This record gives sequence, structure tokens and C-alpha cells, in this order.
Amino acid sequence: MINIILFGPPGAGKGTQATRIREAYGLAHLSTGDMLREAVAAGTEIGKQAKAIMDAGKLVSDEVICGVVADRIEQRDCAKGFILDGFPRTVPQAHALDELLARKGKAIDVVLLIAVDDEALVERIERRNQESGGARSDDNVETLKSRLKVYYEQTEPVLPVYREKGLIREIDGMQSIDQVTSQIEQVLSAIQLTGG
Ligand code: AMP
Repeated sequence: MINIILFGPPGAGKGTQATRIREAYGLAHLSTGDMLREAVAAGTEIGKQAKAIMDAGKLVSDEVICGVVADRIEQRDCAKGFILDGFPRTVPQAHALDELLARKGKAIDVVLLIAVDDEALVERIERRNQESGGARSDDNVETLKSRLKVYYEQTEPVLPVYREKGLIREIDGMQSIDQVTSQIEQVLSAIQLTGG
């Protein structure tokens, strides 16, 4: 069992890599962005509130998102371990996650920090928007700028929380998708060999 946080700016490739490691290790993939997009599509109360916030590239409140994650982590497919993708995104979310996991006798085993240059992110987001035919209404340069600002102001400050615990492993996100996956696999096998 291994519990992973995939960390990095928007467009770093967290979703792509999460899908690959989920398959290879049989883990649950918990993407808070996907959960919110599903809520928007289903027209739930949370979805209605989240839509405008997401389109503006801002963050949904800690309370709402922590509630969503707490429910999701209860589900049976998380028992063998999970990959958190896009959560925690603020220091209070990181603390809430710690408490939530501690109550269940669980913990985060590793934080994979996917590092990518800002210019590359803008290119990737533009490409993703074109390739998906605009499927994500927040994949445009204007919203990306706001998402990046939010990342540096609110999300990066989460890193020291995990750095103190010695949990961060940096991955070079400028490599090809396959190279990033293999670097992640190397890190994960080293962790599994040493038993956490
Ligand atoms: P993502 O797919 O991870 O890029 O998330 C898309 C959008 O969903 C973000 O820009 C936020 O508006 C919202 N969101 C996703 N995860 C979180 C989170 N952990 N906290 C607050 N808002 C979030």
C-alpha cells in the first residue's frame, strides 16, 4: 500500500502521470479537479458554486474541498492506497488531510513534485485546449495566468509542510511523458523496497 500526493503547477502532467501509476500499482486516483468537474456536469449544489470559481482560475473553499476528499477517501477502492492529484492546494488543506489520515491510521508516503518551467506550462495548456476542442473551460491563457498565480501564492507554501517530513521527491517534468513515468516508477520502487 502506498499513498501518494502528486504535486505541481497546472499543466505539469499530474493527471496523465496519475492515470499511468494508478494502472501500474492498482491505486485509486483522486483528482479533486475531476470531482468538481463531475459535480458541475451533474448540476449538484457544490457544482453550481464551483463553476464560476473554476472558470476564474481561483480555488474552491477549503471546507468544501476537504469534505469532498473526506467522503472519497472512505470508499473501498482507496484501501490499497491512493494518488491525490490536485489536493492539497493550500496549507489548511494539507493540515486537514493530515488529521483525516491520522484518524484512520494512515499517512502520506511520498509527495512527487513535478517541476516544469512556466513557459512550457502555457504552451501545454494551449495545446491541451486545442486537442480537447475546449473541453475544459478553464484551459485558456487568461485563466491559466490566474491558476499559476494561485499556485505560487497558495499552493507552493504547502511544500515546506512535507519537506519537513522528508517526503518530497522532485521529478523533472520537462522530460518526455514516458521519461517522467519511469522516473516516478524508480522513486516508487525505491520507497516500496525500503518499506516506506
Ligand atoms: P485541476 O483539474 O486540478 O487543475 O482543478 C481545476 C480547478 O478546480 C482548479 O483551478 C480549482 O478551481 C478547482 N480545484 C481543484 N482542486 C482544488 C483544491 N484542492 N482546492 C480548491 N480548488 C480546487
